Amino acid sequence: MEKAKTGIVYHDDFLLHTNFYHPECKERLEAAMEKLREKKVLQLLEIVVPLEKASEETIALVHREDYIKDVENACQSGSRQLDMDTYLTPDTYEVARLAVRGGLDAVDKVMGGELDRVFALLRPPGHHAEPNRGMGFCIFNNIAIASRYLQKKYGLKRIMIVDWDVHHGNSTQHIFEEEAGVLFFSVHQSPAYPGTGGVREVGRRDGVGYTINAPMPAGCGDEDYLKLFNEIVLPVMDEYKPEMLLVSAGQDAYRGDPLASMNLSLQCYAHLAKLLVKGAEKNTGGKMIFFLEGGYNVDAQASIIYNVLNVISRWNLPLEEDSEIHRSRDGAEAIEAVRAFHKQYWKALQ
Ligand SMILES: [Zn+2]
Repeated sequence: MEKAKTGIVYHDDFLLHTNFYHPECKERLEAAMEKLREKKVLQLLEIVVPLEKASEETIALVHREDYIKDVENACQSGSRQLDMDTYLTPDTYEVARLAVRGGLDAVDKVMGGELDRVFALLRPPGHHAEPNRGMGFCIFNNIAIASRYLQKKYGLKRIMIVDWDVHHGNSTQHIFEEEAGVLFFSVHQSPAYPGTGGVREVGRRDGVGYTINAPMPAGCGDEDYLKLFNEIVLPVMDEYKPEMLLVSAGQDAYRGDPLASMNLSLQCYAHLAKLLVKGAEKNTGGKMIFFLEGGYNVDAQASIIYNVLNVISRWNLPLEEDSEIHRSRDGAEAIEAVRAFHKQYWKALQ
């Protein structure tokens, strides 16, 4: 198979938003870049460096203007917390705007045909940030703003978002749950933060059936995620036929993650990425963009980012692998529940 043209979005300023005592710190990104350097693959990638910050108007595609102003004012006044677990620094507002712009640059590169796939290594992350408030380490919802931008600038009618972060992508769900033009799929540990994402949350009004939640019990492993992707995600993707595939890529379902209790191996993420590539090639012409969300085992998430890039670029280099596979819970029942709630909307699940 031919190699794909791939890139990453990265800017040194993404490191300015940091807190030494917080799991969502700059070391996550530094370790990822170091891994790509050490593996000598940086030169195989186009490095997309956002040259400007997203305008307030662009951020307002998703967020309320008073909230955007609040973040700006809070940073300027030296406030250190946006909510209990979301910190601020004097630079946060500007860095978050730069991250949003980085996501849009990824969209332009892929829609313009310069790149097939991009992993946007953005910080701060985004999928918890609601239209009217930041939460869960997130300031602005990068992937949601990119989706609105795809609709507005490129006129896309069907966008699929796969959120494999171990936490439910509450904000992304809420933003799109009343429309059919964005299909949101989230697999997450349940119960866990933020507490939303039940299997009964299937979307509302025109969006009924276009929100698919797979809440999985703690302890599930590779086998469960692969089954879920093979039996639910790919069949639904083939039926929906998205024009673009976006991934909220948090690496915190990894077995050694300090903030969650799933059992995925390093190599599992490569297998999941391979399945998504297969789906994208059938439906989007291979176009897909990954957005960095969580992942707090710094070394493991660097390896996972390398593994994902390796697969989506088809470098065919050796994967970083765990020698042992762990699994303490069977996720089959949870997967059947997803099928039960969604077979009325999707022929592929009947
Ligand atoms: Zn997470």
